[in-house]
Amino acid sequence: MGGRSAIGYTALMSALSIIAAVTLSALAMTLIVGVRYLVTSAGFALATKLRHPGLYTGLDPQIRREIWWSLVSAAIYGIPAGVLAWGWERHGWTRVYRDVHDYPLWYLPVSVLAYLFLHDTWFYWTHRWMHRPEPFKLAHAVHHASRPPTAWAAMAFHPIEALTGAVVIPLLVLAIPIHVAALGLVLTIMTVMGVTNHMGWEVFPRFMWRGIVGRWLITASHHQRHHERYGCNYGLYFRFWDRLCGTDDGVGDFARAHARARARSDAGGSGIAADRGGAGRVA
Ligand SMILES: [Zn+2]
Ligand SMILES: [Zn+2]
Repeated sequence: MGGRSAIGYTALMSALSIIAAVTLSALAMTLIVGVRYLVTSAGFALATKLRHPGLYTGLDPQIRREIWWSLVSAAIYGIPAGVLAWGWERHGWTRVYRDVHDYPLWYLPVSVLAYLFLHDTWFYWTHRWMHRPEPFKLAHAVHHASRPPTAWAAMAFHPIEALTGAVVIPLLVLAIPIHVAALGLVLTIMTVMGVTNHMGWEVFPRFMWRGIVGRWLITASHHQRHHERYGCNYGLYFRFWDRLCGTDDGVGDFARAHARARARSDAGGSGIAADRGGAGRVA
């Protein structure tokens, strides 16, 4: 009897310690994702202030909303990532490897490209689906409530949309081998592109978004047009799916958005109504 209760006690304690460790890992990852978002967005918001002073004038209430939704998203991204990080550390879950010689060196860039392409594919189709009237009203409208988006809008998603984004990398690391540094690179590209695609000006050199490279890569000029016209340019990193499916509507420019920002500045920072024109179309 005493032996059985001792076994029961041990099992309970080990279950509790597992729950505590997983919770701690999820909290740590949420913190990392949240801080990573705040630091990256703050950095690019500062760059915006220096490069295009007044671009975010009058958008303070919107920016507060963008930060709130992004921090909620940080938890939704952080929890599954934290559980997986614990499982990787303790039980070797995931195909993430540490020794660079576990796979041939050519596999490093291939794995990065494969991750980006698969993430892009998932994003394109879920994003396109979310532009159907029902899911748009229910979830995606939160992201498009940013008119025009700012550097703080990178993770401004309704929890349902954040959930569709949060499962991608965890599923990929379970299925496709990737070196830990290559995974770091994928996450850095994901974070930087999320911010720069929304900040209202083009940070990359002209050849990247106008030339041959820009024909296949997505930068702010491409995503800007999505936020202006809605029913086009659904991709995340590459224009592949948009081109293949006939939803690519070329790259936009920032002349109108910048003119509206000037109008807001002239109106003393309260001309938000100037941004509402032409919005609300759902395709
Ligand atoms: Zn959209
Ligand atoms: Zn967007």
